[in-house]
Amino acid sequence: MFYAISKKYNDVVCASNVTDLNDTFLCLNSQCKAEYFIKGINSERKAHFCHKHSTPHIQGCPYDMGLTKYLNNDDIVKSSLQDIYAHIRKPIKKAPTIHVNKQPKQNASRKTYINTTKDLFYFCTTNSLDTIYENKTTINDIIVDSRNICSKGLFKGFSGLRLVVGYTIKYDFPKRFILLKTEAVTKYGKTIDLYSTIYMETNQIKEIKDYLFGTFGTFTGYPVAVLGKWSNSRLFNIECTINEPTNVIYKFANDIDKR
Ligand SMILES: [Zn+2]
Repeated sequence: MFYAISKKYNDVVCASNVTDLNDTFLCLNSQCKAEYFIKGINSERKAHFCHKHSTPHIQGCPYDMGLTKYLNNDDIVKSSLQDIYAHIRKPIKKAPTIHVNKQPKQNASRKTYINTTKDLFYFCTTNSLDTIYENKTTINDIIVDSRNICSKGLFKGFSGLRLVVGYTIKYDFPKRFILLKTEAVTKYGKTIDLYSTIYMETNQIKEIKDYLFGTFGTFTGYPVAVLGKWSNSRLFNIECTINEPTNVIYKFANDIDKR
């Protein structure tokens, strides 16, 4: 992970910008108790955070990742943002796997495909915000989460296709939506919330509600990521309607391979 909450500054920091090694670094998920140490300073590898063994991530934390497979490199094949949103899967040509006994692995190319919203989420959280996704679009242009919500006043709201990471507040069956909030602490130390209203089918609301109650015993405070075409209904509020259920992610790390 390249980002964490710095306890000293009460703000998100990038590992490569850390100057005070005595600072305490926490998981981006405010519900999570994971504390990080920093690795890779003054070395060949890029500086990054690893969680301490004494403080693991909570169950289902979206940032519980040993997911080096999503690190940006030539072995990642990316679908366009529009195709992921519309759930269009291009036929995948898999490179033939050659099994040769005890050969060094260096020539084996194992592609990672980004076809789903969940793949996109992991790509966006594994890499730094300035990483290019396609053409001139960077991760910073795709995701809205605690790392970048303060930049360019995103907390005031925005419109268009974006992957928003928020935390559950409530669900409403009659009006068919769930409400999330994403917290922002401005450079003046003021806490501001961006509220996202996500309209969806009743059965999906029920699935999410049942999952959160069944897993955590409560609905409130758990991360949900939504790839949506947002509109900026009013200040500090955005909304979208879900057509494709897989654009809503509420099960994370522990379920990564069970889709
Ligand atoms: Zn965590």
